[in-house]
Amino acid sequence: MTPTRKIAIILGLIFLIPALFFSVYEISGLSRDEKMIESIYQKQLEAILFSVNQYSDDAANGWMAKLEAKRANVSTSKAALQEFLMLNTTTVLFFTADSSAGKLQPRIFSLDSTLNVKYGPLLKDVINRNTKTVRQLSKYKRSGFQKLEALNDSLKQLSPLQVVVWESQVQGTSTLCGLLLDPELYIENIVGPRLQSIAQEQFILSVWNTQNNAQLYSTLTLDSARFEQQALTKSFWIFPSYKLGIRTNGASVESLVRERTNTNLLLLIGLDVVLMAALLLAFRSVKKEVQLAQNKADFVSNVSHEIRTPLALISMFAETLELGRTKSEEKKQEYYAIISKETQRLSGIVNKILNFSQMEAGKKILHVEPVSLHTLLSDILHTYDFHLKNKGFSYRVDEADSITVLADKAALTEIIINLIDNAIKYSTLEKRLIFSFSTTADMATLAVRDFGIGIHATDQKHIFDKFYRVSTGNLAKGPGTGLGLSLVKQLVEQQRGTISVSSDLGKGSTFFVTLPLSK
Ligand code: ADP
Repeated sequence: MTPTRKIAIILGLIFLIPALFFSVYEISGLSRDEKMIESIYQKQLEAILFSVNQYSDDAANGWMAKLEAKRANVSTSKAALQEFLMLNTTTVLFFTADSSAGKLQPRIFSLDSTLNVKYGPLLKDVINRNTKTVRQLSKYKRSGFQKLEALNDSLKQLSPLQVVVWESQVQGTSTLCGLLLDPELYIENIVGPRLQSIAQEQFILSVWNTQNNAQLYSTLTLDSARFEQQALTKSFWIFPSYKLGIRTNGASVESLVRERTNTNLLLLIGLDVVLMAALLLAFRSVKKEVQLAQNKADFVSNVSHEIRTPLALISMFAETLELGRTKSEEKKQEYYAIISKETQRLSGIVNKILNFSQMEAGKKILHVEPVSLHTLLSDILHTYDFHLKNKGFSYRVDEADSITVLADKAALTEIIINLIDNAIKYSTLEKRLIFSFSTTADMATLAVRDFGIGIHATDQKHIFDKFYRVSTGNLAKGPGTGLGLSLVKQLVEQQRGTISVSSDLGKGSTFFVTLPLSK
C-alpha cells in the first residue's frame, strides 16, 4: 500500500467515519425530536382548550347552584327567579319539567310571556327526545351527584339557543330544571374575557359556529385564519354546536419545529462539509509532505550518483597520469581536459546545492537594477555558443525592441542558464532553441522554446517543486538533482516576477520568465 493511501485510510477512520455516524444518528434523532416537540405542544394546546371548557361549565354550574338555592326558599322563589333572569341576559328562560301522562311537560319562567308561547312546544319536544339523558341525570342525583348537561337538539328547533338541564331536589321532590341559553351572548360575555386572558401574545383562540362555519369570536381583532388552519379544535361541552380553535400567534408550531429541524439539518450538513474540506486539506498537505520526503530521498541518491561519476573519472585519469602510464603528450592533454571538465561539472552540482540551501535559508540577497534583457542574453549565448554548437544545437533570437527589466544580473543569468541546460538535457531529436520577447504595460517576458521531449500535463504542475523530477516514460532522463527549476522559480519570484511553462509531450516546451519592466 502506498503511504498516501495509508494516510487516507487512517484519516478516514479517525475523523470521517465517526463524523458520518454521528450525522446519521443526529439526523434520525431530529425527526424523533420533531415528533416529541409536536406532541408536547399538542398536549399543551389540549390542556388550554380543556381549561376553557371547564371554565364555561363552571359558570353555568354556578347558575345552577344559585337557582337551586333560590328554589329552596319557596316564599321568595318567583321574584328571585325573575331577578335572576333580569341579571343574566344570557339566559332566555328558566323552566322546570314535571312528568304527566308519560311525557315531560315544561313549566316556563321568563320575563316576556310571548317567549313561553314561542318556545313552550319546542322545548317540550327537545326534552322528550332526550329522555335517556334526563333519566341518567336523575340517577346521578340519587347517588348524590348533581350534573348539568346540554341537551341534543338534533332537529335544530331551538337553534341557535341551547337547552341545559339538571335534576333538582327541593323538599324531597325531584324535578328536572333547565335553562335556555343564548350561546353567542354566553361566549361573547362570559367565555370571551377568559379567552383573552389565556391568549395573551402567544396564542389565538377563536370560536366557530359549526352549523354555518362562521367565526363567532376571536381573541385577535381581525383574524382571517380559517377553521381548518387551527392547530387544535374542540367542541364546547356546554354548546355542542360550537367549536373552540387554538393556534400559535405568528408561525404555527409545525412550521416552527420544521424550521428548527431544517436549521439543525443544514448545520449538520455544513459541519460535515467543513470537516470533509478540512480532511481534504489535511490529506493534501500530508500527501505533499510525503511526496517531498520521497523526492528528498531520491535527491540524495541522484546527487550521490551525479557526484560519483565525475569523481570516478577524475580519479581514474589522475591515477593514469600519476603512474606515468601515458606517454603521448596528446593523450595527456586529453586527460587533463577530461579532469578539468569533470571538476567543473562537480563544482556546478555543488554550486547548485549551495545556492539552493542559501535560498532555502533566505540568505541569498538579490540586488535588482535595470538590466538590458537583450544584452544579457547575447552575453550568455556568446559564452554558450561553443557548448551549444558542440552538442549539435542551433538557436535563434527573435528580433525585438530593446527591453530593460528590473533584475539581479547574476540571478537572471543563472535562471537563463538553467533553462538552456534543461533544454539541452531534454532535447533528443530536434536540437533547436528559440528565444523571444514580449511586453505588457509593466512586465516583460522572455520565452525559451525547445523542441525536445516535452512534459506531460500532470507533471507540469510539479516541475517547479523542490527535488521533483519527472520519473515515468522519460527515456531521455539524464542525470539531474530536481533542484534546477525550483531554484529558478524562487529566484524569479524574489525579483517580483513569475515563471510558467507550456509544453506538449513529444513536441517540446516553452518556459516563460516574466519580470517587471524598468521605467
Ligand atoms: P533536473 O533537470 O535536475 O531533473 P529540474 O528542476 O531542472 O531538475 O527539472 C525538473 C524536471 O522537469 C526534470 O526532471 C524534467 O523532467 C523536467 N524538465 C525541465 N525542463 C524541461 C524541458 N526543457 N523539457 C522537458 N522536460 C523538462
